[in-house]
Amino acid sequence: MTLKNEVGFLEVICGCMFSGKTEELLRVLKRSFISKQKILVFKHASDIRYSTQEICSHNGQKISAHLVESTSEIFKYDLSEIDVIGIDEVQFFNESVIEDIEKLLAKKIRVVAAGLDLDYRKKPFGYMPHLLAMANKITKLTAICAQCSNDAFYSQRLNNINQLVLVGATDSYEPRCALHHYVPEDKIK
Ligand SMILES: [Zn+2]
Repeated sequence: MTLKNEVGFLEVICGCMFSGKTEELLRVLKRSFISKQKILVFKHASDIRYSTQEICSHNGQKISAHLVESTSEIFKYDLSEIDVIGIDEVQFFNESVIEDIEKLLAKKIRVVAAGLDLDYRKKPFGYMPHLLAMANKITKLTAICAQCSNDAFYSQRLNNINQLVLVGATDSYEPRCALHHYVPEDKIK
């Protein structure tokens, strides 16, 4: 017998690339798993860098995840016994993510969502601002600037490929502090 959630709860884990968001998501989910809560994990289907069935952090930890193109697909699963839902790469989901998470919270499910708060231009990513406003708990992580070792809040794009985020392309991005971050397009002008 496990303790049931009295109410829904939304935790958002955010930060730049290489800030350890997926590690933190895995840590939180592992705690729920140890306390015998029933967990389902989802991830945006665009991210197939390591596996179609598992979410892996940069340090190699993994957990099974269902790949979905929209968070509305979560409701195709039997949620009647589910206590906790993890969502990785949440910044990639379309606007239904807001309503879908509200529905999960109404079912007294604890939702833990991890994603980029800012894109490489330092602009808010997708529906993250809305999710951060809705959140009951926010964990904002930093990385270490690849140039000076100060706290890094931003994802530096290292090439000019015309795509908002190259998923997990570790050689295309590095973490940077405010002093060392720049937007490639601005430099060309
Ligand atoms: Zn720096």
